[in-house]
Amino acid sequence: MARYERILLKLSGEVMAGPAAFGIDPERVKGLAGEVAAIAKEGVQVGLVVGGGNIFRGVAMAAKNMDRVTGDHMGMLATVINSLALQDALEQIGVHTRVMTAIQMHQVAEPYIRRRAIRHLEKGRVVIFAAGTSNPYFSTDTAAVLRALEIKAQVIAKATKVDGVYDKDPLKFDDAVMYKEISYTEVLARSLAVMDATSIAMCRDNKLPILVFNLNVPGNIMRVSMGEPVGTAIV
Ligand code: UDP
Repeated sequence: MARYERILLKLSGEVMAGPAAFGIDPERVKGLAGEVAAIAKEGVQVGLVVGGGNIFRGVAMAAKNMDRVTGDHMGMLATVINSLALQDALEQIGVHTRVMTAIQMHQVAEPYIRRRAIRHLEKGRVVIFAAGTSNPYFSTDTAAVLRALEIKAQVIAKATKVDGVYDKDPLKFDDAVMYKEISYTEVLARSLAVMDATSIAMCRDNKLPILVFNLNVPGNIMRVSMGEPVGTAIV
């Protein structure tokens, strides 16, 4: 039995890219879709938010003199591209999926309407929330928290490249120590780079638990959904 009835899974854009670190790797997307399909088949209602960093990041372009708001609009459109790729991969393996966009583009996907999203979830459809929050200066982490709260997900599962939250960057320091559990306030106070401060604060203020786990370990999405102790819980 799955531990959670409804989860919000947050994937960063770079997980779509595979070894190239840029663009979309169809094999990678197929693998991800398989893992999402497995939990959907267990009856877990899945909301999904995917980033856009594999295609475009507003801040990076702003640093090179592009108007920040324009860059952010481009970044949000990048998340739509990733969402459509995931939808396609999910539907190829028989999982009904809806993409709902925060920026309206009726010819491409449904507009985000909260009640309709919840209905889709209740019917067992995977719902991919695309185009971030529709606002510049936000991130897809913030979008993920916002949608998780709106659909009343029990948890936000944040996929990363490392096993969980560490006291320092485990890719740089051998002696980095991973937390099993940590408070929102401590994550903020220590500026631990797991999600941006806005999204952590939103989770704290609304008591939404975050589970940080390693996506590169096959089966972890299932383990998280089953309530097995993987990664770090931010509570
Ligand atoms: N973005 C935005 N508002 C949002 C969500 C995203 O402006 O509500 C833009 C922002 O430019 C961001 C880009 O979309 O850099 C891609 O999202 P993000 O960097 O969060 O993707 P990830 O790091 O998860 O791949």
